[in-house]
This record gives sequence, structure tokens and C-alpha cells, in this order.
Amino acid sequence: MINPIIEVVKALGKERFTVQYPEERESLPDSYRSMFKLDVQTCISCSACSIICPNNTITMVNILTDKGQKIMPQIGIERCLFCALCAEVCPPKCLTLTKNYEVLEAYDKRDFIKRPEELE
Ligand code: SF4
Ligand code: SF4
Repeated sequence: MINPIIEVVKALGKERFTVQYPEERESLPDSYRSMFKLDVQTCISCSACSIICPNNTITMVNILTDKGQKIMPQIGIERCLFCALCAEVCPPKCLTLTKNYEVLEAYDKRDFIKRPEELE
């Protein structure tokens, strides 16, 4: 019984490792990868992102734009490895991974499937 109390007293003098989220946020490294962003205006519908994806996370789906029907990536984020290969091969660099992790929460698996319009 004494040992746990001693450990607690020792820990009181140490630096805190946790933050009071959401009031406090940890700074993220530059290499941090989270939610996708797609610029539908510059996507050229080449499917390179879908072809390179090692986990079959990306499906090309129809979307109506100012220039008519086009195919663009729909991402099933629950399958994503966040390897960023899709962003790397994207010729116009219109598909990127942001640091926004707060939108990556859902109670229903289907909510992780994001259509191109939802990635803008
Ligand atoms: S980050 Fe990797 S796993 Fe995720 S969609 Fe892109 S290529 Fe696929
Ligand atoms: S997001 Fe990039 S790689 Fe994917 S279809 Fe559009 S232009 Fe091609």
C-alpha cells in the first residue's frame, strides 16, 4: 500500500506528459499525416492515386463539376495507412494530407468513406 503512494508523490514533482485537450494541443511534426484535402478544380482524373494505393483505399467515382462529369478519388479512410503515396504521385499535387486529425472520428464505419466533394 505504501509503494503506490510513494510513486504518486514522486510523480507529482515530474514534468507533465499529457495536455488538457481540447484547450491545449500538442504541436505536430511536419511529417504528420492526417485528413485528406482534394482540389477538385485541378484534379485531372488520371487515377494515379487509386492505382498506387497499396490498400485499395481509393475508388474513382463520378462527380459533377463546372466542366461536366469527371471521375475523382473517393477515400475509405478506415483502410488508409497514411503512407502518402497517393499524394506523392498526384501530377498536379491536388491531393494532399493535412494535419487535421479531429475530423477522423466516427461511430459508423460508413462515415469514414469520403466522397471527393467532402475532401475539398
Ligand atoms: S495514404 Fe496510402 S493508404 Fe492512404 S489512400 Fe493514400 S496511398 Fe492509400
Ligand atoms: S487526385 Fe491527383 S492522382 Fe488522383 S485522380 Fe486527381 S489528379 Fe490524378
